[in-house]
Amino acid sequence: LPLFLQVIRCRAAVAWARGKPLSVEEVEVAPPKAHEVRVKIVATGICHTDDHVLEGSFPDIDFPVIPGHEGAGIVESTGEGVTSVKPGDKVILFGLPQCGECRFCLNPDSNYCLKSHLSEPQNLLPDKTSRFTCKGKQIYHFLWISTFAEYTVVPEYTLAKIDAAAPLDKVCLLGCGFSTGYGAAINTAKVKPGSTCAIFGLGGVGLSVIMGCKVSGASRIIAIDINKDKFAKAKELGATECINPQDFKKPVQEVLIEMTGYGVDYSFEVIGTADTVIAALASCKMNTGVCVMVGLVPSGSVVPIDPLLLLSGRTCKGTLLGGWKMRDSIPKLVSSYLEKKFNSDLLITHTLPIAKINEGFELLRAGKR
Ligand code: NAD
Ligand code: ZN
Ligand code: ZN
Repeated sequence: LPLFLQVIRCRAAVAWARGKPLSVEEVEVAPPKAHEVRVKIVATGICHTDDHVLEGSFPDIDFPVIPGHEGAGIVESTGEGVTSVKPGDKVILFGLPQCGECRFCLNPDSNYCLKSHLSEPQNLLPDKTSRFTCKGKQIYHFLWISTFAEYTVVPEYTLAKIDAAAPLDKVCLLGCGFSTGYGAAINTAKVKPGSTCAIFGLGGVGLSVIMGCKVSGASRIIAIDINKDKFAKAKELGATECINPQDFKKPVQEVLIEMTGYGVDYSFEVIGTADTVIAALASCKMNTGVCVMVGLVPSGSVVPIDPLLLLSGRTCKGTLLGGWKMRDSIPKLVSSYLEKKFNSDLLITHTLPIAKINEGFELLRAGKR
Protein backbone atom coordinates (compact mmCIF):
# COMPACT_ATOMS: atom_id res chain seq x y z
CA LEU A 1 0.00 0.00 0.00
CA PRO A 2 1.20 3.54 -0.61
CA LEU A 3 2.02 5.27 2.68
CA PHE A 4 -1.02 7.51 2.60
CA LEU A 5 -3.37 4.52 2.56
CA GLN A 6 -1.80 2.78 5.52
CA VAL A 7 -2.96 2.66 9.10
CA ILE A 8 -0.55 4.61 11.31
CA ARG A 9 0.36 3.33 14.76
CA CYS A 10 1.25 6.11 17.18
CA ARG A 11 0.68 7.31 20.72
CA ALA A 12 -2.43 9.08 21.94
CA ALA A 13 -3.90 10.04 25.31
CA VAL A 14 -7.13 8.12 25.78
CA ALA A 15 -9.82 8.89 28.37
CA TRP A 16 -11.33 5.43 28.91
CA ALA A 17 -14.12 6.62 31.20
CA ARG A 18 -15.50 9.72 32.85
CA GLY A 19 -13.58 10.77 35.98
CA LYS A 20 -10.42 8.78 35.07
CA PRO A 21 -7.01 10.26 34.22
CA LEU A 22 -5.80 10.00 30.63
CA SER A 23 -3.76 6.99 29.66
CA VAL A 24 -1.13 7.19 26.96
CA GLU A 25 -1.64 4.24 24.63
CA GLU A 26 -0.59 2.98 21.25
CA VAL A 27 -3.49 3.57 18.86
CA GLU A 28 -4.21 2.85 15.22
CA VAL A 29 -5.18 5.80 13.04
CA ALA A 30 -6.94 4.86 9.81
CA PRO A 31 -6.32 6.78 6.57
CA PRO A 32 -8.53 9.77 5.75
CA LYS A 33 -11.72 9.16 3.78
CA ALA A 34 -13.21 11.63 1.28
CA HIS A 35 -13.04 15.27 2.45
CA GLU A 36 -10.86 14.30 5.42
CA VAL A 37 -7.26 15.11 6.27
CA ARG A 38 -4.76 13.11 8.35
CA VAL A 39 -2.53 15.45 10.36
CA LYS A 40 0.68 14.81 12.27
CA ILE A 41 0.13 16.80 15.48
CA VAL A 42 3.30 18.69 16.45
CA ALA A 43 1.97 20.56 19.49
CA THR A 44 -1.25 20.92 21.44
CA GLY A 45 -2.32 23.14 24.29
CA ILE A 46 -4.37 22.01 27.27
CA CYS A 47 -7.52 24.12 27.66
CA HIS A 48 -9.73 23.90 30.72
CA THR A 49 -12.46 22.60 28.42
CA ASP A 50 -10.47 19.33 28.10
CA ASP A 51 -10.70 18.99 31.87
CA HIS A 52 -14.48 19.47 31.59
CA VAL A 53 -14.44 16.49 29.21
CA LEU A 54 -12.54 14.31 31.70
CA GLU A 55 -14.91 15.35 34.53
CA GLY A 56 -17.92 14.63 32.34
CA SER A 57 -19.30 18.17 32.49
CA PHE A 58 -18.95 18.82 28.73
CA PRO A 59 -22.22 18.05 26.90
CA ASP A 60 -22.76 14.95 24.75
CA ILE A 61 -19.39 13.20 25.02
CA ASP A 62 -18.90 9.49 24.39
CA PHE A 63 -16.14 7.42 26.05
CA PRO A 64 -13.51 6.15 25.39
CA VAL A 65 -12.37 9.36 23.74
CA ILE A 66 -9.18 11.12 22.69
CA PRO A 67 -9.64 14.75 23.88
CA GLY A 68 -7.61 17.83 22.89
CA HIS A 69 -8.72 20.73 20.70
CA GLU A 70 -5.89 23.27 20.57
CA GLY A 71 -3.48 21.69 18.11
CA ALA A 72 -1.15 22.53 15.27
CA GLY A 73 0.55 20.13 12.91
CA ILE A 74 1.54 19.09 9.42
CA VAL A 75 -0.73 17.46 6.84
CA GLU A 76 0.32 13.82 6.33
CA SER A 77 -2.25 12.78 3.73
CA THR A 78 -5.56 13.89 2.30
CA GLY A 79 -8.72 12.06 1.26
CA GLU A 80 -10.51 12.42 -2.03
CA GLY A 81 -11.91 15.86 -2.78
CA VAL A 82 -9.69 17.81 -0.36
CA THR A 83 -8.60 21.02 -2.09
CA SER A 84 -7.44 23.52 0.55
CA VAL A 85 -4.37 21.64 1.86
CA LYS A 86 -1.76 19.15 0.67
CA PRO A 87 0.77 16.91 2.46
CA GLY A 88 3.49 18.99 4.12
CA ASP A 89 1.29 22.06 4.76
CA LYS A 90 1.29 23.52 8.27
CA VAL A 91 -2.21 23.72 9.75
CA ILE A 92 -4.10 24.69 12.89
CA LEU A 93 -7.11 22.58 13.87
CA PHE A 94 -10.16 24.02 15.61
CA GLY A 95 -13.19 22.66 17.42
CA LEU A 96 -15.65 25.05 15.74
CA PRO A 97 -15.89 24.14 12.05
CA GLN A 98 -16.69 26.48 9.19
CA CYS A 99 -18.37 24.45 6.46
CA GLY A 100 -18.93 27.62 4.45
CA GLU A 101 -22.30 26.46 3.18
CA CYS A 102 -24.83 26.40 6.02
CA ARG A 103 -27.17 29.24 6.93
CA PHE A 104 -24.96 30.29 9.85
CA CYS A 105 -21.72 30.19 7.85
CA LEU A 106 -23.38 32.33 5.17
CA ASN A 107 -24.33 34.98 7.78
CA PRO A 108 -21.38 37.38 8.02
CA ASP A 109 -22.27 38.20 11.66
CA SER A 110 -22.19 34.60 12.88
CA ASN A 111 -19.24 32.31 13.57
CA TYR A 112 -21.47 29.35 14.35
CA CYS A 113 -21.74 26.47 11.88
CA LEU A 114 -24.49 23.88 11.78
CA LYS A 115 -21.77 21.20 11.72
CA SER A 116 -20.74 22.25 15.27
CA HIS A 117 -20.92 19.92 18.25
CA LEU A 118 -23.89 21.83 19.71
CA SER A 119 -25.99 20.96 16.64
CA GLU A 120 -24.53 17.57 15.76
CA PRO A 121 -22.21 15.78 18.24
CA GLN A 122 -18.74 15.43 16.74
CA ASN A 123 -17.79 12.21 18.55
CA LEU A 124 -17.67 10.35 15.24
CA LEU A 125 -16.55 11.80 11.91
CA PRO A 126 -19.34 13.04 9.59
CA ASP A 127 -19.84 9.54 8.06
CA LYS A 128 -20.59 8.31 11.64
CA THR A 129 -17.47 6.15 11.94
CA SER A 130 -14.24 6.57 13.92
CA ARG A 131 -10.68 6.55 12.54
CA PHE A 132 -9.19 5.49 15.92
CA THR A 133 -8.87 2.06 17.50
CA CYS A 134 -6.95 0.94 20.57
CA LYS A 135 -6.64 -2.63 21.87
CA GLY A 136 -9.29 -3.67 19.39
CA LYS A 137 -11.81 -1.08 20.58
CA GLN A 138 -13.23 1.86 18.70
CA ILE A 139 -12.23 5.18 20.26
CA TYR A 140 -14.39 8.29 19.88
CA HIS A 141 -13.21 11.61 18.48
CA PHE A 142 -13.56 14.90 20.40
CA LEU A 143 -14.89 17.97 18.56
CA TRP A 144 -13.77 16.09 15.43
CA ILE A 145 -10.13 17.00 16.03
CA SER A 146 -8.76 14.94 19.01
CA THR A 147 -5.39 16.66 19.19
CA PHE A 148 -4.02 14.56 22.09
CA ALA A 149 -2.73 12.11 19.49
CA GLU A 150 0.42 12.03 17.41
CA TYR A 151 -1.79 11.62 14.31
CA THR A 152 -5.44 12.52 13.92
CA VAL A 153 -8.01 12.51 11.10
CA VAL A 154 -10.33 15.50 10.71
CA PRO A 155 -12.89 16.89 8.24
CA GLU A 156 -11.33 19.49 5.95
CA TYR A 157 -13.49 22.29 7.33
CA THR A 158 -11.98 21.97 10.84
CA LEU A 159 -8.52 23.11 9.79
CA ALA A 160 -6.80 25.99 8.04
CA LYS A 161 -3.46 26.21 6.29
CA ILE A 162 -1.12 28.69 7.94
CA ASP A 163 2.14 30.45 7.04
CA ALA A 164 5.03 27.96 6.72
CA ALA A 165 7.12 30.28 8.92
CA ALA A 166 4.82 29.83 11.95
CA PRO A 167 6.30 27.97 14.97
CA LEU A 168 3.73 25.21 15.60
CA ASP A 169 4.65 24.80 19.27
CA LYS A 170 3.60 28.43 19.81
CA VAL A 171 0.68 29.05 17.45
CA CYS A 172 -1.23 25.95 18.54
CA LEU A 173 -2.78 28.22 21.20
CA LEU A 174 -4.56 30.12 18.42
CA GLY A 175 -6.71 27.00 17.89
CA CYS A 176 -8.74 27.82 21.02
CA GLY A 177 -7.55 29.64 24.16
CA PHE A 178 -5.85 32.70 22.72
CA SER A 179 -8.36 33.32 19.94
CA THR A 180 -11.30 32.88 22.32
CA GLY A 181 -10.11 35.44 24.86
CA TYR A 182 -8.74 37.96 22.38
CA GLY A 183 -11.87 37.73 20.21
CA ALA A 184 -14.21 37.96 23.24
CA ALA A 185 -12.84 41.48 23.80
CA ILE A 186 -12.53 42.73 20.23
CA ASN A 187 -15.36 40.88 18.42
CA THR A 188 -17.97 39.98 21.05
CA ALA A 189 -17.74 42.92 23.46
CA LYS A 190 -16.25 45.34 20.90
CA VAL A 191 -14.39 47.12 23.71
CA LYS A 192 -14.14 50.88 23.07
CA PRO A 193 -11.08 53.05 23.69
CA GLY A 194 -11.03 54.68 27.12
CA SER A 195 -13.35 52.10 28.68
CA THR A 196 -13.07 50.13 31.91
CA CYS A 197 -12.98 46.32 31.79
CA ALA A 198 -13.06 43.59 34.44
CA ILE A 199 -11.83 40.06 33.74
CA PHE A 200 -12.88 37.24 36.09
CA GLY A 201 -10.39 34.35 35.83
CA LEU A 202 -6.79 34.64 34.68
CA GLY A 203 -6.10 31.32 32.97
CA GLY A 204 -4.90 31.23 29.39
CA VAL A 205 -8.26 32.46 28.14
CA GLY A 206 -8.69 35.29 30.68
CA LEU A 207 -5.15 36.55 30.04
CA SER A 208 -5.99 36.63 26.32
CA VAL A 209 -9.06 38.76 27.11
CA ILE A 210 -6.68 41.22 28.81
CA MET A 211 -4.61 41.37 25.61
CA GLY A 212 -7.77 42.06 23.59
CA CYS A 213 -8.91 44.83 25.98
CA LYS A 214 -5.48 46.44 25.85
CA VAL A 215 -5.25 46.40 22.05
CA SER A 216 -8.76 47.94 21.94
CA GLY A 217 -7.54 50.90 24.00
CA ALA A 218 -9.27 50.20 27.33
CA SER A 219 -7.87 52.58 29.93
CA ARG A 220 -8.64 50.51 33.04
CA ILE A 221 -8.29 46.74 33.03
CA ILE A 222 -9.16 45.11 36.35
CA ALA A 223 -8.01 41.49 36.65
CA ILE A 224 -9.69 39.19 39.18
CA ASP A 225 -8.54 35.79 40.43
CA ILE A 226 -8.45 33.84 43.69
CA ASN A 227 -4.88 32.81 42.83
CA LYS A 228 -2.63 35.83 43.28
CA ASP A 229 0.21 34.05 41.48
CA LYS A 230 -1.63 35.01 38.29
CA PHE A 231 -1.31 38.75 38.91
CA ALA A 232 2.25 39.34 37.65
CA LYS A 233 1.46 37.90 34.21
CA ALA A 234 -1.85 39.79 34.08
CA LYS A 235 -0.01 43.08 34.72
CA GLU A 236 2.65 42.26 32.16
CA LEU A 237 -0.13 41.78 29.58
CA GLY A 238 -1.93 45.03 30.39
CA ALA A 239 -3.98 44.74 33.60
CA THR A 240 -3.93 48.05 35.48
CA GLU A 241 -5.21 46.59 38.78
CA CYS A 242 -5.50 43.06 40.19
CA ILE A 243 -7.86 41.96 42.92
CA ASN A 244 -8.47 38.76 44.87
CA PRO A 245 -12.15 38.43 45.91
CA GLN A 246 -11.02 36.51 49.01
CA ASP A 247 -9.33 39.67 50.35
CA PHE A 248 -12.74 41.33 50.86
CA LYS A 249 -15.68 40.66 53.15
CA LYS A 250 -18.21 42.03 50.65
CA PRO A 251 -19.05 40.45 47.29
CA VAL A 252 -16.59 41.27 44.50
CA GLN A 253 -19.29 43.07 42.47
CA GLU A 254 -19.64 45.62 45.28
CA VAL A 255 -15.88 46.06 45.38
CA LEU A 256 -15.83 46.73 41.62
CA ILE A 257 -18.71 49.20 41.83
CA GLU A 258 -16.87 51.11 44.55
CA MET A 259 -13.62 51.09 42.57
CA THR A 260 -15.28 52.44 39.43
CA GLY A 261 -18.16 54.59 40.68
CA TYR A 262 -21.01 52.87 38.81
CA GLY A 263 -19.50 49.62 37.58
CA VAL A 264 -17.41 48.63 34.60
CA ASP A 265 -18.23 49.09 30.91
CA TYR A 266 -17.35 45.48 30.06
CA SER A 267 -17.04 42.42 32.27
CA PHE A 268 -15.85 38.99 31.17
CA GLU A 269 -16.58 35.75 33.01
CA VAL A 270 -13.72 33.39 32.12
CA ILE A 271 -14.05 30.74 34.84
CA GLY A 272 -17.30 28.89 34.31
CA THR A 273 -19.31 28.97 37.56
CA ALA A 274 -22.82 30.27 38.18
CA ASP A 275 -21.62 32.54 41.02
CA THR A 276 -19.02 34.28 38.91
CA VAL A 277 -21.49 34.80 36.06
CA ILE A 278 -23.81 36.53 38.56
CA ALA A 279 -20.93 38.63 39.90
CA ALA A 280 -19.72 39.60 36.42
CA LEU A 281 -23.18 40.74 35.30
CA ALA A 282 -23.76 42.69 38.53
CA SER A 283 -20.37 44.41 38.13
CA CYS A 284 -21.23 46.17 34.92
CA LYS A 285 -22.60 49.64 34.60
CA MET A 286 -26.32 50.43 34.70
CA ASN A 287 -27.90 50.85 31.27
CA THR A 288 -24.83 50.38 29.06
CA GLY A 289 -22.66 47.68 30.68
CA VAL A 290 -21.90 44.52 28.70
CA CYS A 291 -21.13 41.18 30.35
CA VAL A 292 -19.54 38.51 28.15
CA MET A 293 -19.75 34.86 29.25
CA VAL A 294 -16.69 32.92 28.13
CA GLY A 295 -16.35 30.24 30.83
CA LEU A 296 -18.13 26.95 30.31
CA VAL A 297 -20.66 26.57 33.13
CA PRO A 298 -21.27 22.79 33.53
CA SER A 299 -23.98 21.60 31.16
CA GLY A 300 -27.36 21.26 32.80
CA SER A 301 -26.77 23.97 35.42
CA VAL A 302 -28.93 27.06 35.76
CA VAL A 303 -27.82 30.61 36.58
CA PRO A 304 -30.43 32.70 38.44
CA ILE A 305 -30.36 36.29 37.20
CA ASP A 306 -31.95 39.36 38.81
CA PRO A 307 -34.14 40.57 35.91
CA LEU A 308 -33.71 44.22 36.97
CA LEU A 309 -30.04 44.01 36.00
CA LEU A 310 -31.09 43.34 32.40
CA LEU A 311 -34.26 45.42 32.36
CA SER A 312 -32.21 48.49 33.22
CA GLY A 313 -30.23 48.00 30.03
CA ARG A 314 -27.23 45.81 30.73
CA THR A 315 -26.41 43.22 28.10
CA CYS A 316 -25.34 39.68 28.87
CA LYS A 317 -23.95 37.71 25.94
CA GLY A 318 -21.78 34.71 25.29
CA THR A 319 -19.05 33.85 22.85
CA LEU A 320 -17.91 30.75 21.01
CA LEU A 321 -14.22 30.87 20.12
CA GLY A 322 -14.23 34.66 20.42
CA GLY A 323 -16.60 35.18 17.53
CA TRP A 324 -14.06 34.31 14.81
CA LYS A 325 -15.11 32.43 11.70
CA MET A 326 -12.22 30.07 12.25
CA ARG A 327 -11.21 28.98 8.74
CA ASP A 328 -11.19 32.57 7.51
CA SER A 329 -9.58 34.04 10.62
CA ILE A 330 -6.86 31.60 11.71
CA PRO A 331 -4.46 32.33 8.81
CA LYS A 332 -4.89 36.08 9.49
CA LEU A 333 -4.34 35.66 13.23
CA VAL A 334 -1.16 33.69 12.48
CA SER A 335 0.03 36.55 10.23
CA SER A 336 -0.66 39.02 13.06
CA TYR A 337 1.29 36.76 15.41
CA LEU A 338 4.25 36.71 12.99
CA GLU A 339 4.01 40.52 12.70
CA LYS A 340 4.20 40.64 16.53
CA LYS A 341 0.82 42.40 16.88
CA PHE A 342 0.31 40.30 20.03
CA ASN A 343 2.53 38.03 22.08
CA SER A 344 0.63 34.86 22.85
CA ASP A 345 3.95 33.15 23.73
CA LEU A 346 3.58 34.72 27.19
CA LEU A 347 0.71 32.30 27.85
CA ILE A 348 3.02 29.29 27.63
CA THR A 349 4.26 28.25 31.06
CA HIS A 350 5.35 24.63 30.54
CA THR A 351 6.19 22.39 27.59
CA LEU A 352 5.83 18.65 28.20
CA PRO A 353 6.09 15.47 26.10
CA ILE A 354 2.85 13.54 25.46
CA ALA A 355 3.88 10.88 28.01
CA LYS A 356 3.52 13.53 30.74
CA ILE A 357 0.10 14.81 29.72
CA ASN A 358 -1.43 14.05 33.13
CA GLU A 359 1.23 16.26 34.70
CA GLY A 360 -0.01 19.03 32.42
CA PHE A 361 -3.53 18.57 33.78
CA GLU A 362 -2.21 18.62 37.36
CA LEU A 363 -0.50 21.95 36.61
CA LEU A 364 -3.72 23.32 35.11
CA ARG A 365 -5.72 22.27 38.17
CA ALA A 366 -3.12 23.73 40.51
CA GLY A 367 -3.41 27.02 38.60
CA LYS A 368 0.24 26.98 37.64
CA ARG A 369 -0.41 27.15 33.94
P1 NAD B 1 -7.97 27.97 33.70
O1 NAD B 1 -8.35 26.87 34.59
O2 NAD B 1 -6.59 28.03 33.16
O3 NAD B 1 -8.26 29.39 34.42
C1 NAD B 1 -9.32 29.63 35.27
C2 NAD B 1 -8.88 30.67 36.31
O4 NAD B 1 -10.01 31.03 37.12
C3 NAD B 1 -7.79 30.17 37.26
O5 NAD B 1 -6.70 31.09 37.26
C4 NAD B 1 -8.49 30.11 38.63
O6 NAD B 1 -7.63 30.41 39.71
C5 NAD B 1 -9.56 31.18 38.45
N1 NAD B 1 -10.72 31.03 39.35
C6 NAD B 1 -11.35 29.86 39.70
N2 NAD B 1 -12.39 30.14 40.52
C7 NAD B 1 -12.42 31.48 40.69
C8 NAD B 1 -13.27 32.38 41.41
N3 NAD B 1 -14.30 31.93 42.13
N4 NAD B 1 -13.00 33.71 41.36
C9 NAD B 1 -11.96 34.19 40.63
N5 NAD B 1 -11.12 33.39 39.92
C10 NAD B 1 -11.35 32.05 39.95
O7 NAD B 1 -9.04 27.94 32.48
P2 NAD B 1 -8.93 28.42 30.95
O8 NAD B 1 -8.29 27.36 30.12
O9 NAD B 1 -8.40 29.82 30.90
O10 NAD B 1 -10.50 28.41 30.57
C11 NAD B 1 -11.40 29.28 31.23
C12 NAD B 1 -12.84 28.90 30.91
O11 NAD B 1 -13.14 29.20 29.53
C13 NAD B 1 -13.16 27.41 31.07
O12 NAD B 1 -14.45 27.29 31.67
C14 NAD B 1 -13.19 26.90 29.64
O13 NAD B 1 -13.98 25.73 29.50
C15 NAD B 1 -13.79 28.09 28.93
N6 NAD B 1 -13.57 28.18 27.48
C16 NAD B 1 -14.60 28.63 26.71
C17 NAD B 1 -14.44 28.81 25.35
C18 NAD B 1 -15.53 29.38 24.52
O14 NAD B 1 -15.54 29.20 23.29
N7 NAD B 1 -16.48 30.08 25.09
C19 NAD B 1 -13.21 28.50 24.75
C20 NAD B 1 -12.16 28.07 25.58
C21 NAD B 1 -12.36 27.91 26.93
ZN1 ZN C 1 -10.60 25.34 24.51
ZN1 ZN D 1 -21.45 25.87 8.34
